[in-house]
Amino acid sequence: MTMLVRTSLWCAGLALAVAIVAYPLYANGYYLALGISVLYFTILATAWAMFSGPTRYISLATVAFFGLGAYTAAVLGETTPWPVVLLAAAGVGAVTAAITGLSTLRLSGIYFVIFSFGLAELIRQLVIWYEVNIHKSVGRYLFSAVTQDILYWQLLGLTALVFLVGWLLGRSRYGLALRAIGADETAASHSGIDATRVKLGVFILSATFMAMTGAVMAPRWTYIDPAIAFNPTISFQVVIMALLGGAGSLFGPVLGVIPLVLLFEVLTATLPNHFSIVLGIIFVLIVMVLPNGVIGLFGAGRRHVPAGAPAAAFARTMDDAPLLAVEGVSKSFSGLRAVDGVSFTVAPGEIIGIIGPNGSGKTTLLNTLSGALRPSSGTIRFGGTVLTGLRAHQIARLGLARTFQLVRVMPDLTVAENVATARLFSAPASSSGSDTTGRELLDLVGLGAMHDAPARELTYIDQKRLELARALALRPHLMLLDEWLAGLNPSELETGIALIAKLRERGLTIIMVEHVMDAIRALCGHCIVMNAGSVIARGAPDEVLSDPKVVAAYLGGDDA
Ligand code: ADP
Ligand code: MG
Repeated sequence: MTMLVRTSLWCAGLALAVAIVAYPLYANGYYLALGISVLYFTILATAWAMFSGPTRYISLATVAFFGLGAYTAAVLGETTPWPVVLLAAAGVGAVTAAITGLSTLRLSGIYFVIFSFGLAELIRQLVIWYEVNIHKSVGRYLFSAVTQDILYWQLLGLTALVFLVGWLLGRSRYGLALRAIGADETAASHSGIDATRVKLGVFILSATFMAMTGAVMAPRWTYIDPAIAFNPTISFQVVIMALLGGAGSLFGPVLGVIPLVLLFEVLTATLPNHFSIVLGIIFVLIVMVLPNGVIGLFGAGRRHVPAGAPAAAFARTMDDAPLLAVEGVSKSFSGLRAVDGVSFTVAPGEIIGIIGPNGSGKTTLLNTLSGALRPSSGTIRFGGTVLTGLRAHQIARLGLARTFQLVRVMPDLTVAENVATARLFSAPASSSGSDTTGRELLDLVGLGAMHDAPARELTYIDQKRLELARALALRPHLMLLDEWLAGLNPSELETGIALIAKLRERGLTIIMVEHVMDAIRALCGHCIVMNAGSVIARGAPDEVLSDPKVVAAYLGGDDA
Protein backbone atom coordinates (compact mmCIF):
# COMPACT_ATOMS: atom_id res chain seq x y z
CA MET A 1 0.00 0.00 0.00
CA THR A 2 2.63 2.54 1.07
CA MET A 3 4.68 1.37 -1.90
CA LEU A 4 1.74 2.13 -4.17
CA VAL A 5 1.22 5.54 -2.56
CA ARG A 6 4.87 6.36 -2.93
CA THR A 7 4.96 5.31 -6.57
CA SER A 8 1.90 7.35 -7.41
CA LEU A 9 3.35 10.37 -5.60
CA TRP A 10 6.51 10.03 -7.65
CA CYS A 11 4.50 9.76 -10.84
CA ALA A 12 2.42 12.81 -9.94
CA GLY A 13 5.59 14.75 -9.12
CA LEU A 14 7.18 13.76 -12.39
CA ALA A 15 4.08 14.66 -14.36
CA LEU A 16 3.96 18.05 -12.64
CA ALA A 17 7.64 18.67 -13.41
CA VAL A 18 7.09 17.79 -17.08
CA ALA A 19 4.02 20.03 -17.18
CA ILE A 20 6.00 22.93 -15.70
CA VAL A 21 8.97 22.52 -18.04
CA ALA A 22 6.78 22.08 -21.15
CA TYR A 23 4.41 24.92 -20.15
CA PRO A 24 5.43 27.34 -22.96
CA LEU A 25 4.65 24.64 -25.52
CA TYR A 26 0.96 24.57 -24.67
CA ALA A 27 0.24 27.86 -22.85
CA ASN A 28 -0.84 30.79 -24.99
CA GLY A 29 0.53 34.32 -24.70
CA TYR A 30 -1.57 35.47 -21.74
CA TYR A 31 -1.03 32.32 -19.70
CA LEU A 32 2.64 32.24 -20.58
CA ALA A 33 3.00 35.81 -19.30
CA LEU A 34 1.27 34.74 -16.09
CA GLY A 35 3.69 31.81 -15.79
CA ILE A 36 6.60 34.20 -16.22
CA SER A 37 5.24 36.43 -13.45
CA VAL A 38 4.86 33.46 -11.12
CA LEU A 39 8.42 32.38 -11.79
CA TYR A 40 10.10 35.72 -11.36
CA PHE A 41 8.22 36.49 -8.19
CA THR A 42 9.07 32.99 -6.94
CA ILE A 43 12.77 33.69 -7.38
CA LEU A 44 12.51 37.15 -5.81
CA ALA A 45 10.39 36.00 -2.87
CA THR A 46 12.53 32.90 -2.23
CA ALA A 47 15.73 34.94 -2.40
CA TRP A 48 14.17 37.55 -0.15
CA ALA A 49 13.16 34.93 2.41
CA MET A 50 16.62 33.36 2.28
CA PHE A 51 17.91 36.41 4.14
CA SER A 52 14.88 38.09 5.68
CA GLY A 53 13.13 34.91 6.83
CA PRO A 54 15.63 33.72 9.40
CA THR A 55 17.05 37.11 10.38
CA ARG A 56 13.69 38.96 10.34
CA TYR A 57 15.38 41.94 8.78
CA ILE A 58 12.51 43.07 6.57
CA SER A 59 14.20 44.38 3.43
CA LEU A 60 12.49 46.72 1.00
CA ALA A 61 15.58 46.84 -1.20
CA THR A 62 14.53 43.97 -3.49
CA VAL A 63 13.82 46.26 -6.40
CA ALA A 64 17.19 48.00 -6.05
CA PHE A 65 18.98 44.79 -6.97
CA PHE A 66 16.34 43.70 -9.45
CA GLY A 67 16.56 47.08 -11.21
CA LEU A 68 20.34 47.07 -11.27
CA GLY A 69 20.23 43.66 -12.93
CA ALA A 70 17.74 44.91 -15.49
CA TYR A 71 19.89 47.95 -16.23
CA THR A 72 23.01 45.85 -16.55
CA ALA A 73 21.20 43.84 -19.21
CA ALA A 74 19.99 47.02 -20.92
CA VAL A 75 23.51 48.45 -21.04
CA LEU A 76 25.36 45.28 -22.06
CA GLY A 77 22.60 43.21 -23.61
CA GLU A 78 23.09 44.04 -27.27
CA THR A 79 26.87 43.90 -27.37
CA THR A 80 27.80 41.13 -24.95
CA PRO A 81 27.12 37.37 -24.97
CA TRP A 82 24.11 36.61 -22.78
CA PRO A 83 25.87 34.41 -20.17
CA VAL A 84 28.35 37.24 -19.61
CA VAL A 85 25.47 39.68 -19.16
CA LEU A 86 23.99 37.41 -16.49
CA LEU A 87 27.31 37.12 -14.69
CA ALA A 88 27.81 40.88 -14.87
CA ALA A 89 24.34 41.44 -13.39
CA ALA A 90 25.12 38.98 -10.61
CA GLY A 91 28.38 40.83 -9.96
CA VAL A 92 26.73 44.25 -9.87
CA GLY A 93 24.09 42.94 -7.44
CA ALA A 94 26.70 41.28 -5.23
CA VAL A 95 29.00 44.31 -5.07
CA THR A 96 26.13 46.70 -4.36
CA ALA A 97 24.85 44.37 -1.63
CA ALA A 98 28.32 44.13 -0.12
CA ILE A 99 28.77 47.89 0.02
CA THR A 100 25.29 48.70 1.30
CA GLY A 101 25.12 45.67 3.58
CA LEU A 102 28.22 46.71 5.47
CA SER A 103 26.54 49.95 6.48
CA THR A 104 22.94 48.82 6.90
CA LEU A 105 23.20 45.43 8.55
CA ARG A 106 24.22 47.06 11.82
CA LEU A 107 20.79 48.65 11.97
CA SER A 108 17.98 46.65 13.38
CA GLY A 109 14.21 46.55 13.24
CA ILE A 110 12.41 49.46 11.70
CA TYR A 111 15.64 51.34 10.97
CA PHE A 112 16.72 48.61 8.60
CA VAL A 113 13.33 48.65 6.87
CA ILE A 114 13.52 52.40 6.34
CA PHE A 115 17.11 52.30 5.22
CA SER A 116 16.50 49.48 2.75
CA PHE A 117 13.62 51.45 1.27
CA GLY A 118 15.80 54.55 1.08
CA LEU A 119 18.54 52.52 -0.53
CA ALA A 120 16.27 51.48 -3.38
CA GLU A 121 15.26 55.09 -3.90
CA LEU A 122 18.87 56.28 -3.74
CA ILE A 123 19.99 53.79 -6.37
CA ARG A 124 17.08 54.74 -8.60
CA GLN A 125 18.03 58.41 -8.32
CA LEU A 126 21.67 57.62 -9.07
CA VAL A 127 20.68 55.70 -12.17
CA ILE A 128 18.43 58.56 -13.32
CA TRP A 129 21.24 61.04 -12.73
CA TYR A 130 23.65 58.91 -14.71
CA GLU A 131 21.24 58.38 -17.57
CA VAL A 132 20.29 62.05 -17.83
CA ASN A 133 23.75 63.55 -17.43
CA ILE A 134 26.08 60.97 -18.93
CA HIS A 135 23.99 58.84 -21.23
CA LYS A 136 21.77 61.81 -22.21
CA SER A 137 18.51 59.85 -22.32
CA VAL A 138 16.41 58.45 -19.50
CA GLY A 139 15.31 55.24 -21.14
CA ARG A 140 17.08 52.55 -23.10
CA TYR A 141 15.90 50.18 -25.80
CA LEU A 142 16.88 46.56 -25.54
CA PHE A 143 16.20 44.61 -28.71
CA SER A 144 17.00 41.01 -28.20
CA ALA A 145 16.12 37.75 -29.82
CA VAL A 146 14.89 36.33 -26.52
CA THR A 147 11.40 34.94 -26.98
CA GLN A 148 8.88 34.53 -24.17
CA ASP A 149 9.53 30.77 -24.21
CA ILE A 150 13.25 31.21 -23.69
CA LEU A 151 12.66 33.83 -21.04
CA TYR A 152 10.38 31.38 -19.22
CA TRP A 153 12.98 28.62 -19.35
CA GLN A 154 15.72 30.92 -18.12
CA LEU A 155 13.55 31.88 -15.17
CA LEU A 156 12.77 28.23 -14.55
CA GLY A 157 16.48 27.45 -14.45
CA LEU A 158 17.06 30.30 -12.03
CA THR A 159 14.13 29.08 -9.90
CA ALA A 160 15.70 25.64 -9.69
CA LEU A 161 19.01 27.24 -8.74
CA VAL A 162 17.52 29.43 -6.00
CA PHE A 163 15.80 26.41 -4.48
CA LEU A 164 18.98 24.36 -4.66
CA VAL A 165 21.05 27.11 -3.06
CA GLY A 166 18.36 27.74 -0.43
CA TRP A 167 18.24 24.05 0.39
CA LEU A 168 22.01 23.79 0.71
CA LEU A 169 22.11 26.94 2.82
CA GLY A 170 19.42 25.57 5.13
CA ARG A 171 21.46 22.42 5.70
CA SER A 172 24.73 24.23 6.22
CA ARG A 173 25.99 25.74 9.44
CA TYR A 174 25.32 29.18 7.96
CA GLY A 175 21.60 28.38 7.86
CA LEU A 176 21.50 27.58 11.57
CA ALA A 177 23.77 30.54 12.33
CA LEU A 178 21.36 32.83 10.49
CA ARG A 179 18.40 31.54 12.49
CA ALA A 180 20.38 31.93 15.71
CA ILE A 181 21.13 35.54 14.75
CA GLY A 182 17.45 36.14 14.02
CA ALA A 183 16.48 34.68 17.39
CA ASP A 184 19.05 36.52 19.51
CA GLU A 185 21.94 38.25 17.84
CA THR A 186 23.78 38.97 21.10
CA ALA A 187 23.58 35.39 22.28
CA ALA A 188 24.66 34.23 18.83
CA SER A 189 27.74 36.45 18.90
CA HIS A 190 28.72 35.17 22.30
CA SER A 191 28.36 31.65 20.93
CA GLY A 192 31.14 32.34 18.45
CA ILE A 193 29.02 33.36 15.44
CA ASP A 194 30.35 36.30 13.44
CA ALA A 195 26.93 37.84 12.97
CA THR A 196 28.06 40.62 10.65
CA ARG A 197 29.81 38.29 8.27
CA VAL A 198 27.05 35.68 8.15
CA LYS A 199 24.37 38.30 7.57
CA LEU A 200 26.43 40.06 4.92
CA GLY A 201 27.20 36.82 3.11
CA VAL A 202 23.58 35.74 2.86
CA PHE A 203 22.43 39.28 2.00
CA ILE A 204 24.86 39.26 -0.92
CA LEU A 205 23.70 35.82 -2.01
CA SER A 206 20.09 36.91 -1.95
CA ALA A 207 20.83 40.14 -3.85
CA THR A 208 22.71 38.18 -6.51
CA PHE A 209 19.57 36.21 -7.32
CA MET A 210 17.48 39.37 -7.42
CA ALA A 211 19.88 41.06 -9.84
CA MET A 212 19.99 38.03 -12.12
CA THR A 213 16.19 37.95 -12.15
CA GLY A 214 16.20 41.58 -13.26
CA ALA A 215 18.64 40.79 -16.06
CA VAL A 216 16.58 37.85 -17.28
CA MET A 217 13.41 39.92 -17.20
CA ALA A 218 14.88 42.96 -18.99
CA PRO A 219 14.24 41.81 -22.59
CA ARG A 220 10.56 41.45 -21.75
CA TRP A 221 10.11 45.22 -21.67
CA THR A 222 12.08 46.24 -24.80
CA TYR A 223 12.10 49.79 -23.41
CA ILE A 224 13.60 50.19 -19.94
CA ASP A 225 13.53 53.27 -17.78
CA PRO A 226 14.05 53.73 -14.03
CA ALA A 227 10.33 53.91 -13.32
CA ILE A 228 9.90 50.41 -14.74
CA ALA A 229 13.08 48.80 -13.46
CA PHE A 230 12.97 50.36 -9.98
CA ASN A 231 9.23 50.26 -9.37
CA PRO A 232 9.00 50.14 -5.53
CA THR A 233 5.74 48.18 -5.70
CA ILE A 234 7.84 45.14 -6.60
CA SER A 235 9.63 45.28 -3.23
CA PHE A 236 6.32 45.41 -1.37
CA GLN A 237 4.77 42.65 -3.45
CA VAL A 238 7.73 40.38 -2.72
CA VAL A 239 7.45 40.98 1.02
CA ILE A 240 3.72 40.29 0.98
CA MET A 241 4.12 37.11 -1.04
CA ALA A 242 6.91 35.76 1.15
CA LEU A 243 5.03 36.59 4.35
CA LEU A 244 1.77 35.10 3.08
CA GLY A 245 3.43 31.83 2.14
CA GLY A 246 5.79 31.78 5.11
CA ALA A 247 9.27 33.28 5.02
CA GLY A 248 10.65 30.80 7.52
CA SER A 249 10.87 27.88 5.13
CA LEU A 250 12.25 27.24 1.68
CA PHE A 251 8.96 26.45 -0.06
CA GLY A 252 6.85 28.89 1.92
CA PRO A 253 7.23 31.92 -0.36
CA VAL A 254 6.09 30.11 -3.51
CA LEU A 255 2.82 29.28 -1.74
CA GLY A 256 2.25 33.00 -1.40
CA VAL A 257 3.41 33.86 -4.90
CA ILE A 258 0.86 31.83 -6.84
CA PRO A 259 -2.38 33.21 -5.33
CA LEU A 260 -1.03 36.76 -5.12
CA VAL A 261 0.20 36.90 -8.71
CA LEU A 262 -3.32 35.90 -9.75
CA LEU A 263 -4.88 38.40 -7.38
CA PHE A 264 -2.60 41.24 -8.49
CA GLU A 265 -3.44 40.34 -12.08
CA VAL A 266 -7.13 40.79 -11.34
CA LEU A 267 -6.53 43.96 -9.35
CA THR A 268 -4.46 45.73 -12.01
CA ALA A 269 -7.19 44.96 -14.50
CA THR A 270 -10.12 46.00 -12.33
CA LEU A 271 -8.78 48.59 -9.87
CA PRO A 272 -5.68 50.11 -11.48
CA ASN A 273 -6.00 53.34 -9.50
CA HIS A 274 -6.44 51.75 -6.09
CA PHE A 275 -3.83 49.07 -6.47
CA SER A 276 -1.49 50.48 -3.80
CA ILE A 277 -4.27 50.82 -1.25
CA VAL A 278 -5.39 47.25 -1.74
CA LEU A 279 -1.75 46.14 -1.52
CA GLY A 280 -1.44 47.91 1.82
CA ILE A 281 -4.61 46.33 3.17
CA ILE A 282 -3.48 42.86 2.13
CA PHE A 283 -0.14 43.48 3.83
CA VAL A 284 -1.76 44.41 7.14
CA LEU A 285 -4.16 41.45 6.97
CA ILE A 286 -1.37 38.98 6.35
CA VAL A 287 0.73 40.25 9.23
CA MET A 288 -2.28 40.17 11.58
CA VAL A 289 -3.90 36.91 10.56
CA LEU A 290 -0.99 34.77 9.41
CA PRO A 291 2.21 35.95 11.10
CA ASN A 292 3.95 32.72 10.14
CA GLY A 293 2.46 32.48 6.66
CA VAL A 294 0.40 29.71 5.11
CA ILE A 295 3.16 27.21 5.73
CA GLY A 296 2.99 28.08 9.44
CA LEU A 297 -0.49 26.49 9.47
CA PHE A 298 1.12 23.13 8.85
CA GLY A 299 3.58 23.46 11.72
CA ALA A 300 7.26 23.83 11.18
CA GLY A 301 8.84 20.81 9.57
CA ARG A 302 11.69 18.99 11.25
CA ARG A 303 14.93 20.65 10.46
CA HIS A 304 18.31 19.28 9.87
CA VAL A 305 20.78 20.24 12.59
CA PRO A 306 24.25 20.52 11.10
CA ALA A 307 26.63 18.35 13.07
CA GLY A 308 29.23 21.09 13.46
CA ALA A 309 32.32 19.87 15.17
CA PRO A 310 31.59 16.21 15.86
CA ALA A 311 32.31 16.41 19.54
CA ALA A 312 32.69 19.20 22.02
CA ALA A 313 35.06 19.06 24.93
CA PHE A 314 35.20 21.72 27.53
CA ALA A 315 38.03 22.55 29.88
CA ARG A 316 40.74 22.29 27.29
CA THR A 317 44.06 21.84 29.05
CA MET A 318 46.37 24.83 29.36
CA ASP A 319 49.56 25.53 31.27
CA ASP A 320 49.70 27.05 34.75
CA ALA A 321 50.17 30.77 33.98
CA PRO A 322 47.19 32.94 35.00
CA LEU A 323 44.37 32.09 32.65
CA LEU A 324 42.98 35.58 32.88
CA ALA A 325 44.78 38.80 33.82
CA VAL A 326 42.68 41.94 34.18
CA GLU A 327 44.72 45.11 34.59
CA GLY A 328 43.20 48.47 35.45
CA VAL A 329 40.02 47.93 33.47
CA SER A 330 37.54 50.82 33.49
CA LYS A 331 34.29 51.38 31.68
CA SER A 332 32.41 54.67 31.64
CA PHE A 333 28.94 55.37 30.36
CA SER A 334 28.78 59.06 29.50
CA GLY A 335 30.50 60.19 32.67
CA LEU A 336 29.38 57.38 34.97
CA ARG A 337 32.34 55.14 35.83
CA ALA A 338 30.50 51.83 36.04
CA VAL A 339 33.82 49.94 36.34
CA ASP A 340 36.75 51.83 37.79
CA GLY A 341 40.30 50.50 37.55
CA VAL A 342 39.62 46.84 38.33
CA SER A 343 42.58 44.43 38.40
CA PHE A 344 42.69 40.74 39.26
CA THR A 345 43.98 37.43 37.94
CA VAL A 346 42.39 34.02 37.69
CA ALA A 347 44.42 30.82 37.83
CA PRO A 348 43.36 27.78 35.78
CA GLY A 349 40.85 25.58 37.58
CA GLU A 350 39.84 28.27 40.05
CA ILE A 351 36.34 29.55 40.84
CA ILE A 352 36.35 33.27 41.57
CA GLY A 353 33.30 34.95 43.04
CA ILE A 354 32.38 38.55 42.32
CA ILE A 355 29.95 40.06 44.78
CA GLY A 356 28.71 43.54 45.51
CA PRO A 357 25.49 45.52 45.78
CA ASN A 358 23.28 46.07 42.73
CA GLY A 359 24.68 48.63 40.35
CA SER A 360 28.25 48.13 41.54
CA GLY A 361 29.48 47.25 38.06
CA LYS A 362 29.66 43.44 38.15
CA THR A 363 27.74 42.82 34.94
CA THR A 364 29.56 45.65 33.19
CA LEU A 365 32.88 44.07 34.19
CA LEU A 366 31.79 40.70 32.74
CA ASN A 367 30.63 42.51 29.60
CA THR A 368 34.10 43.96 29.07
CA LEU A 369 35.64 40.52 29.52
CA SER A 370 33.32 38.81 27.04
CA GLY A 371 33.55 41.53 24.43
CA ALA A 372 29.97 42.75 24.78
CA LEU A 373 31.49 46.11 25.75
CA ARG A 374 34.84 47.60 24.93
CA PRO A 375 36.66 48.80 28.08
CA SER A 376 37.39 52.54 28.21
CA SER A 377 40.88 51.74 29.46
CA GLY A 378 42.94 48.86 30.83
CA THR A 379 43.98 45.52 29.37
CA ILE A 380 42.61 42.03 29.55
CA ARG A 381 44.83 39.06 28.79
CA PHE A 382 43.34 35.62 28.34
CA GLY A 383 45.75 32.71 28.05
CA GLY A 384 48.36 35.03 26.55
CA THR A 385 46.00 36.74 24.07
CA VAL A 386 45.07 40.39 24.57
CA LEU A 387 41.28 40.50 24.41
CA THR A 388 40.91 44.26 24.40
CA GLY A 389 39.55 45.26 21.01
CA LEU A 390 38.41 41.78 19.97
CA ARG A 391 34.76 41.25 19.12
CA ALA A 392 32.40 39.00 21.06
CA HIS A 393 32.49 36.09 18.62
CA GLN A 394 36.29 36.14 18.50
CA ILE A 395 36.52 36.00 22.29
CA ALA A 396 33.96 33.20 22.39
CA ARG A 397 35.99 31.19 19.88
CA LEU A 398 39.07 31.58 22.09
CA GLY A 399 37.18 29.66 24.76
CA LEU A 400 35.69 32.35 26.95
CA ALA A 401 32.02 31.54 27.44
CA ARG A 402 29.31 33.36 29.32
CA THR A 403 25.73 33.26 30.46
CA PHE A 404 23.54 36.33 30.83
CA GLN A 405 22.01 37.83 33.96
CA LEU A 406 18.70 38.03 32.08
CA VAL A 407 18.58 34.59 30.52
CA ARG A 408 19.02 34.56 26.73
CA VAL A 409 18.10 31.47 24.76
CA MET A 410 17.17 31.40 21.09
CA PRO A 411 13.43 30.87 21.55
CA ASP A 412 12.52 29.55 18.08
CA LEU A 413 15.34 27.06 17.97
CA THR A 414 15.10 23.67 19.61
CA VAL A 415 17.13 22.83 22.68
CA ALA A 416 19.54 20.78 20.56
CA GLU A 417 19.87 23.59 18.01
CA ASN A 418 20.61 26.10 20.75
CA VAL A 419 23.53 23.97 21.85
CA ALA A 420 24.60 23.32 18.27
CA THR A 421 24.93 27.05 17.56
CA ALA A 422 27.88 27.27 19.91
CA ARG A 423 29.69 24.55 17.99
CA LEU A 424 29.16 25.88 14.48
CA PHE A 425 32.32 27.92 14.26
CA SER A 426 34.33 26.79 17.26
CA ALA A 427 37.70 25.15 16.73
CA PRO A 428 37.54 21.35 16.40
CA ALA A 429 37.96 19.40 19.62
CA SER A 430 41.58 19.09 20.66
CA SER A 431 42.77 15.53 20.91
CA SER A 432 43.86 15.98 24.52
CA GLY A 433 40.65 17.30 26.09
CA SER A 434 37.80 15.06 27.12
CA ASP A 435 35.09 15.07 24.47
CA THR A 436 31.51 15.86 25.27
CA THR A 437 28.77 15.74 22.67
CA GLY A 438 25.83 18.10 22.61
CA ARG A 439 23.61 15.34 23.95
CA GLU A 440 25.98 14.65 26.82
CA LEU A 441 26.03 18.34 27.68
CA LEU A 442 22.24 18.37 27.82
CA ASP A 443 22.31 15.31 30.05
CA LEU A 444 24.89 17.01 32.24
CA VAL A 445 22.69 20.04 32.86
CA GLY A 446 19.57 17.89 33.21
CA LEU A 447 17.88 18.66 29.90
CA GLY A 448 18.46 15.33 28.19
CA ALA A 449 14.73 14.71 27.76
CA MET A 450 14.07 18.09 26.15
CA HIS A 451 16.33 17.63 23.12
CA ASP A 452 13.74 18.52 20.47
CA ALA A 453 11.61 20.98 22.42
CA PRO A 454 11.59 24.59 21.20
CA ALA A 455 13.58 26.62 23.73
CA ARG A 456 10.68 29.00 24.27
CA GLU A 457 8.67 26.23 25.89
CA LEU A 458 11.22 25.68 28.64
CA THR A 459 10.66 26.92 32.17
CA TYR A 460 12.87 29.71 33.49
CA ILE A 461 15.23 27.34 35.29
CA ASP A 462 15.46 25.06 32.25
CA GLN A 463 16.31 28.07 30.08
CA LYS A 464 19.14 28.83 32.49
CA ARG A 465 20.31 25.23 32.18
CA LEU A 466 20.14 25.46 28.41
CA GLU A 467 22.16 28.65 28.42
CA LEU A 468 24.81 26.90 30.48
CA ALA A 469 24.87 23.92 28.11
CA ARG A 470 25.24 26.25 25.14
CA ALA A 471 28.11 28.07 26.84
CA LEU A 472 29.76 24.73 27.65
CA ALA A 473 29.44 23.65 24.03
CA LEU A 474 32.05 26.27 23.16
CA ARG A 475 34.54 24.04 24.98
CA PRO A 476 35.54 27.01 27.12
CA HIS A 477 38.62 27.47 29.24
CA LEU A 478 36.81 30.09 31.24
CA MET A 479 33.13 30.47 32.05
CA LEU A 480 31.51 33.69 33.21
CA LEU A 481 28.29 33.11 35.14
CA ASP A 482 26.20 36.23 35.83
CA GLU A 483 23.83 35.41 38.70
CA TRP A 484 23.22 32.01 37.21
CA LEU A 485 21.78 30.80 40.53
CA ALA A 486 19.41 33.74 40.98
CA GLY A 487 15.73 32.94 41.18
CA LEU A 488 16.14 29.24 41.95
CA ASN A 489 14.21 27.58 44.76
CA PRO A 490 16.21 25.86 47.53
CA SER A 491 16.30 22.40 45.92
CA GLU A 492 17.12 23.82 42.48
CA LEU A 493 19.84 25.85 44.16
CA GLU A 494 21.35 22.71 45.63
CA THR A 495 21.36 21.02 42.22
CA GLY A 496 22.82 24.16 40.66
CA ILE A 497 25.66 24.38 43.16
CA ALA A 498 26.42 20.68 42.67
CA LEU A 499 26.51 21.21 38.91
CA ILE A 500 28.99 24.08 39.15
CA ALA A 501 31.13 21.99 41.51
CA LYS A 502 31.08 19.21 38.94
CA LEU A 503 32.26 21.59 36.23
CA ARG A 504 35.15 22.64 38.47
CA GLU A 505 36.09 19.00 39.01
CA ARG A 506 36.31 18.64 35.27
CA GLY A 507 38.85 21.46 35.27
CA LEU A 508 36.72 24.38 34.10
CA THR A 509 37.74 27.81 35.39
CA ILE A 510 34.79 29.95 36.46
CA ILE A 511 34.08 33.55 37.38
CA MET A 512 30.71 33.78 39.06
CA VAL A 513 28.81 36.93 39.91
CA GLU A 514 26.42 35.90 42.64
CA HIS A 515 24.18 37.23 45.38
CA VAL A 516 23.64 33.80 46.94
CA MET A 517 26.30 33.83 49.65
CA ASP A 518 25.91 30.13 50.45
CA ALA A 519 26.94 29.38 46.90
CA ILE A 520 29.90 31.73 47.13
CA ARG A 521 31.01 30.05 50.36
CA ALA A 522 30.53 26.55 48.95
CA LEU A 523 32.25 27.10 45.63
CA CYS A 524 34.73 29.96 45.62
CA GLY A 525 38.23 29.87 47.00
CA HIS A 526 38.62 33.54 46.39
CA CYS A 527 36.28 36.41 45.87
CA ILE A 528 36.26 40.03 44.89
CA VAL A 529 33.88 42.60 46.32
CA MET A 530 32.88 45.52 44.13
CA ASN A 531 31.21 48.75 45.11
CA ALA A 532 30.55 51.72 42.85
CA GLY A 533 32.77 50.26 40.14
CA SER A 534 35.85 49.61 42.31
CA VAL A 535 37.17 46.55 44.10
CA ILE A 536 36.82 47.26 47.83
CA ALA A 537 37.91 43.89 49.22
CA ARG A 538 39.32 40.57 48.05
CA GLY A 539 40.15 37.27 49.72
CA ALA A 540 38.52 34.11 51.02
CA PRO A 541 34.70 34.37 51.21
CA ASP A 542 34.40 34.26 55.02
CA GLU A 543 37.14 36.81 55.36
CA VAL A 544 35.66 39.38 53.00
CA LEU A 545 32.09 38.86 54.15
CA SER A 546 33.07 39.92 57.67
CA ASP A 547 35.07 42.90 56.45
CA PRO A 548 33.44 46.10 57.85
CA LYS A 549 33.89 47.88 54.46
CA VAL A 550 31.90 45.14 52.76
CA VAL A 551 29.17 45.12 55.38
CA ALA A 552 28.90 48.91 55.04
CA ALA A 553 28.69 48.68 51.25
CA TYR A 554 25.83 46.21 51.44
CA LEU A 555 23.99 48.22 54.07
CA GLY A 556 24.46 51.40 52.07
CA GLY A 557 23.39 49.62 48.90
CA ASP A 558 20.00 48.06 48.33
CA ASP A 559 18.24 44.72 48.65
CA ALA A 560 21.04 42.16 48.17
P1 ADP B 1 25.62 45.11 38.66
O1 ADP B 1 25.71 44.00 37.69
O2 ADP B 1 26.71 45.08 39.68
O3 ADP B 1 24.27 45.18 39.33
P2 ADP B 1 25.86 46.83 36.38
O4 ADP B 1 27.20 46.51 35.83
O5 ADP B 1 24.69 46.23 35.69
O6 ADP B 1 25.82 46.49 37.92
O7 ADP B 1 25.68 48.39 36.39
C1 ADP B 1 26.67 49.27 36.90
C2 ADP B 1 26.26 50.71 36.64
O8 ADP B 1 26.38 50.98 35.26
C3 ADP B 1 24.82 51.00 37.02
O9 ADP B 1 24.78 52.30 37.56
C4 ADP B 1 24.10 50.94 35.70
O10 ADP B 1 22.99 51.78 35.71
C5 ADP B 1 25.16 51.44 34.73
N1 ADP B 1 25.02 50.84 33.40
C6 ADP B 1 25.12 49.54 33.09
N2 ADP B 1 24.98 49.33 31.78
C7 ADP B 1 24.82 50.56 31.23
C8 ADP B 1 24.64 51.03 29.90
N3 ADP B 1 24.61 50.20 28.84
N4 ADP B 1 24.49 52.36 29.70
C9 ADP B 1 24.53 53.23 30.75
N5 ADP B 1 24.71 52.85 32.01
C10 ADP B 1 24.84 51.53 32.27
MG1 MG C 1 24.36 42.57 37.18
